[in-house]
Amino acid sequence: MSDDIRLYMFQCGTLKCHVENIKMNQGLGEEYEIPVPWFLLTHPGGNVVIDGGNAAECAVDAKKHWDGIWEVYWPTMTAEEACVPQLEKLGVDLSSVKYIVQSHLHLDHTGAVAALDSFANAEVIATRAEYEYSRAPDWFAAAGYIDADFIKPGVPWQLLETTDDGYDLFGDGVLKLWQTPGHAPGHQSIEVTLPNSGSVLLTVDAAYTTDHWNEKALPGFLASAVDAVRSVRKLRRIAERSGSTVVTGHDPDAWPQFKQAPEFYD
Ligand SMILES: [Zn+2]
Repeated sequence: MSDDIRLYMFQCGTLKCHVENIKMNQGLGEEYEIPVPWFLLTHPGGNVVIDGGNAAECAVDAKKHWDGIWEVYWPTMTAEEACVPQLEKLGVDLSSVKYIVQSHLHLDHTGAVAALDSFANAEVIATRAEYEYSRAPDWFAAAGYIDADFIKPGVPWQLLETTDDGYDLFGDGVLKLWQTPGHAPGHQSIEVTLPNSGSVLLTVDAAYTTDHWNEKALPGFLASAVDAVRSVRKLRRIAERSGSTVVTGHDPDAWPQFKQAPEFYD
């Protein structure tokens, strides 16, 4: 595996849900199927897994693992689509993963931390706001956090404060974490700046789809509508300034247009 700076895009199956679960008050009852993206950044300073999709347990017994929410978001994935087998297939030495970056801690983003035993040298980076909210969520949000994935002894958390907005992971501008609350209280989006491709802005769930990016939809699941709207504006300013390629979080139409691993962006 090269230690050149490369961004790999992966998909961990799909979630079957309704349009209104993704786009607030739109398409009531209409079926919708969304991809579950996650990412690998290779970097000479250590490799980075971003989110990691669903936990591998979803391929075994999703009803058990996602108790209480599988009736709304049904995960469709094979065992091979979990993050560890996909990384191994690509030839990634799992001990080379130095960071697991969490955009937030919702259930379809905790696949790597759920497999933490496989990542012997990885620290887990999240915002303190998200971590603390996940420990005491409001009733409507509680089912979105699967404690089994990330509440266990020995997780080497690195929790970012609100004063860490724009956090530059390697100090070289390659990976920056922008705080984008709203969908979840401690959500952050990831800007990756590549040698040839330039800025790639992973909005993650701050903008589920192009409609959210274009201010035509609010998330069907959110903590604060006002914060969600302001976070999209913030990301749009960043994208304009950086000339970013924008990758939204779960868009079934936009996502297939990006190169998937083993292809990569460099
Ligand atoms: Zn989410």
